Amino acid sequence: MGLVDGLTVVITGAAAGIGRTTALCFAAEGAQVVVSDIDSNGAAETVALIEKKHGKATMVVADVSKPADVTNLIDQAVATYGQIDCAVNNAGIEGKIAPLAEQPDENFDAIISVNLKGTFLCLRAEIAAMLKTGGGTIVNLSSVAGLIGFPGLSPYVASKHGVAGLTKNAALEYAKSGIRVNAVCPGGIDTRMLDSLAEQATGGAQSTGEMMDPLHPIGRIGTPQEVAELIVWLCSPRASFMTGAVIPVDGGFVAQ
Ligand code: NAD
Repeated sequence: MGLVDGLTVVITGAAAGIGRTTALCFAAEGAQVVVSDIDSNGAAETVALIEKKHGKATMVVADVSKPADVTNLIDQAVATYGQIDCAVNNAGIEGKIAPLAEQPDENFDAIISVNLKGTFLCLRAEIAAMLKTGGGTIVNLSSVAGLIGFPGLSPYVASKHGVAGLTKNAALEYAKSGIRVNAVCPGGIDTRMLDSLAEQATGGAQSTGEMMDPLHPIGRIGTPQEVAELIVWLCSPRASFMTGAVIPVDGGFVAQ
């Protein structure tokens, strides 16, 4: 019996990184997975990886910053599996590193529209669907940058603090309707996004590990699996008293 046996989960940004690993982890724990991303090739690969392990998955291409795409995603998920029980709002972008006074409008707008508005649009559609079927569980991807500041990353930090705020509000508004909403705050996790940030920060002078490992008290960056395990647990009935929590999974980063 898996942790999320028979449940349906929608995961955004599931073509790569934390989202893909989370999709595989849900499938391994018995869920049927709606794999969503703007990257159709990557999403199709995630579905193929799940099916190879005899899991159930389907894919819906969606840009989370577009309201019509998000509506279509949730409609398709419900049409395919009857209802959605869990959702993981994971799609996100890091954008460009620059001091606040040099941040271009386009960088701020792009990051806020994917990370913050995208999470809002997904929450709105997911909650509406879950209210019709008596409840569900949602996990949003915030970040250690949703708990503390990082020089050079002001739009990203603002977006991830915003995700933490949306998480608390959604949790409070729907606690009595059987919907639990939590956020996870990863530290440095071994994905394309972290490589991009390390490359921008050091101009390629250091590898991702050289730059990021020593920043974590545990002495290394994390794996996508280490984040996925927490997300799946939060969505499972084992976490029945968890809502409105904004939880670091960061090798001790924000304890410093
Ligand atoms: P990634 O870049 O490896 O994967 C992100 C995925 O999101 C990609 O498949 C991409 O195509 C998709 N995506 C981007 N824009 C989208 C959009 N508009 N609509 C739909 N999909 C879109 O990144 P990751 O490291 O796996 O990050 C996943 C989440 O975790 C993000 O929200 C990120 O901010 C957060 N996070 C990552 C780290 C880290 O160190 N990697 C740390 C803290 C938080």
